[in-house]
Amino acid sequence: MLKRFGLLGLLLLSVTCSTSKVSGRNQLLLFSEQRMTQMGVEAYAQMTGTDKVPVSTDARYTTPLYRVGRAISQAAELQHKPGYDWEFKVIDDKKTVNAWALPGGKIAFYTGIYPILQDEAGMAIVMGHEVMHAILRHGNERMSQSAAAQVILAGAAIGLNDSKYRGEIMGALGVGASVGVILPFSRKHESEADEYGLYLAAAAGYDPEAGIGVWERMAAMSEGKRPPEFMSTHPDPLNRIKNMRKWMPKAKAIYAQSRKAQPARLPDIN
Ligand SMILES: [Zn+2]
Repeated sequence: MLKRFGLLGLLLLSVTCSTSKVSGRNQLLLFSEQRMTQMGVEAYAQMTGTDKVPVSTDARYTTPLYRVGRAISQAAELQHKPGYDWEFKVIDDKKTVNAWALPGGKIAFYTGIYPILQDEAGMAIVMGHEVMHAILRHGNERMSQSAAAQVILAGAAIGLNDSKYRGEIMGALGVGASVGVILPFSRKHESEADEYGLYLAAAAGYDPEAGIGVWERMAAMSEGKRPPEFMSTHPDPLNRIKNMRKWMPKAKAIYAQSRKAQPARLPDIN
């Protein structure tokens, strides 16, 4: 069983592991960029513009998002050259504090996150974070890890058919697959998106200091009864603030060299 496990793992890694040009980290990427971009386009159509997720056409909300989206994606194209067909949508949902990015640069912000962002500088920090999730190919990596975990578990199940330890070993592998492999990478993804997103916002002319305020307001909100949705996928805001302070000198140096943006205040959502 171990031999099978080892060979399979080696095969997957040798065929598909690549080093990120941005982070320098090795990534397991089983899906082509073309396939991921296509999935991004399909998911974007399904995840926006339905009754549950109505797209806002209110210029008070869309104008700042388009402006910040353009500034951050232009900085991203200049630095990382992903060649994406960027799209930005506002979801008209005041109760949901969330924003996300799909592979290929398809991005959505919920109106519920606007009070946390406060102004376009705050929006630029979260935009930088989302844009970097796409550029760093985190969606591909997450899907690849879960596909590889499934293949390995299936292989282990076949190999262990007659073993009296089957339940025990499968349990250990299952736990390993979710806690040991996938979750730490998720935290790694969040941290990477935070760091490179901060530099990106600074390069686009937004004061990186705005990031501290965003996470402080997010932390304050998560102390209430209903933690914002962004928090469930983005845990531990206080830890992030600590990290952000660590990256701040580099971000400030980038900001000092940039052509400064004029960040407007975001509209109230009531
Ligand atoms: Zn994130």
